[in-house]
Amino acid sequence: MPSATALKHRPRPTSVPSKRKTHALATTAHGRERNCSVARTVGILSDAWAFLVIREAFFGARRFETFRSALGLPRATLTARLNNLTQQGIFRQVHYAEGSSRVEYRLTKAGLDLYPPFMALMQFGDRWLTGKKGPPLQLIHADCGKECKPIVGCSACLKQVNPVDSSYRDGPGAGRTPVRGTKRSRRASDPSQFMRGRPSSVSLSLSVMGDKWSFLVIREAFLGVRRFDRFAAELGIAPNILTDRLNRLIDRGIFKKKKYQDLPERYEYRLTEMGKDLYGSLVAMMAWGDRWLSHGEPPLQLTHKACGKDFTPKVICDKCRRPVTAHNMKYRLKYDPHAYEADSDYGRVAPGRI
Ligand SMILES: [Zn+2]
Ligand SMILES: [Zn+2]
Repeated sequence: MPSATALKHRPRPTSVPSKRKTHALATTAHGRERNCSVARTVGILSDAWAFLVIREAFFGARRFETFRSALGLPRATLTARLNNLTQQGIFRQVHYAEGSSRVEYRLTKAGLDLYPPFMALMQFGDRWLTGKKGPPLQLIHADCGKECKPIVGCSACLKQVNPVDSSYRDGPGAGRTPVRGTKRSRRASDPSQFMRGRPSSVSLSLSVMGDKWSFLVIREAFLGVRRFDRFAAELGIAPNILTDRLNRLIDRGIFKKKKYQDLPERYEYRLTEMGKDLYGSLVAMMAWGDRWLSHGEPPLQLTHKACGKDFTPKVICDKCRRPVTAHNMKYRLKYDPHAYEADSDYGRVAPGRI
C-alpha cells in the first residue's frame, strides 16, 4: 500500500468532491462497476452470515460448534461461510493438534485488520442507533488506559475526517471492471439477519445500511451524486431496485428527499446528518480494501483539505490519537455474555476482554 507520505508530493487536485476528473469511463457504466475498495470490503461484510462469523471470531470463537451455537446457523450455511472466508484470506484453518483432522478457524492478519473498520461502524451505531439502552460495549484503549470512542482520522495530522474536509481524486487503481454475472442476480440477504446473536452496534449499523446496493448508493452520494438518473447510470442498477433502496435509506434516516423541480416534480436524494456521519465508516472500510484487496493500487486517493495532505484513513483513539487494533483494545460488556456465548471457547482467545 502506498503511504500517504509517498503520495504527498503529487499535485493536489483543485476540484471539490462533486467533480470527477477521469470518469469518462462512466459512460460505459452499465455492466461495469467502479473499482472501489469500499465495494470490495462490503462484498465481504454485507453478507450478514459472513459478518456475524467474523464478529464472533473477534469475541474469541474459533471452533465450528462455537460459531454454530452462538449464531444458530445451519451446519451447511456455516461450513460454506467458513470455507468462503478462508478462501478470501479472512480465516486460516489450524488443526486442533498434531494429526487431528479437526480444525479451528483463526483470523488472519487481514481478518484481524477488520477490527478498525468494525470500530468505526460500532461508533456510528453507538451514536445513532442504540437508543435508551446505550452502547452494548465499553472500550478501553490499552495504549493510554482511557475509555475510548474511536474516531476515523487523517494519517497526516490525526484530526477526525469528515466529508466536507476531504476531497478525492482517482488513484492508481481507478477504472471500471466488468461485473461478473452472478453478482447482479444474487438475491440480497435480509438485513434483519445482522441482528442475530449478541447486542452489537456494528450489527445495527450494517442492518441500517442494508445490502450491497444500499452501500453503493451511499458511496455514490459521498462522491457527489444526488439525482435518481445519475445513481442509476453510475451503478447500472435497475430503476425498481434503486427506488426500493432509496426509499429504505430514507426510511432509516440516511437520506432525505428534496424537491428541485416542480413541473414535472423531481427530487434529489441527499444524505442527512446521520447519513453524512457514515463517512468515517465508509473510508475505514475503503482503507481495509486498499490494504488487502487492491494489489497496492488504491482506486481512490483522499486529500485532507484541513491539513492539505493526502491521507490514509486511520481508526484512532479519541483520547491519545494512537491506532486502534484488535490487540490494544479492552472491552467491558454491558450485557450478560452467557446468553450468547454457549461454549468455553470464548474468552480464552478474545483480544482484550477486561
Ligand atoms: Zn490531515
Ligand atoms: Zn488511547
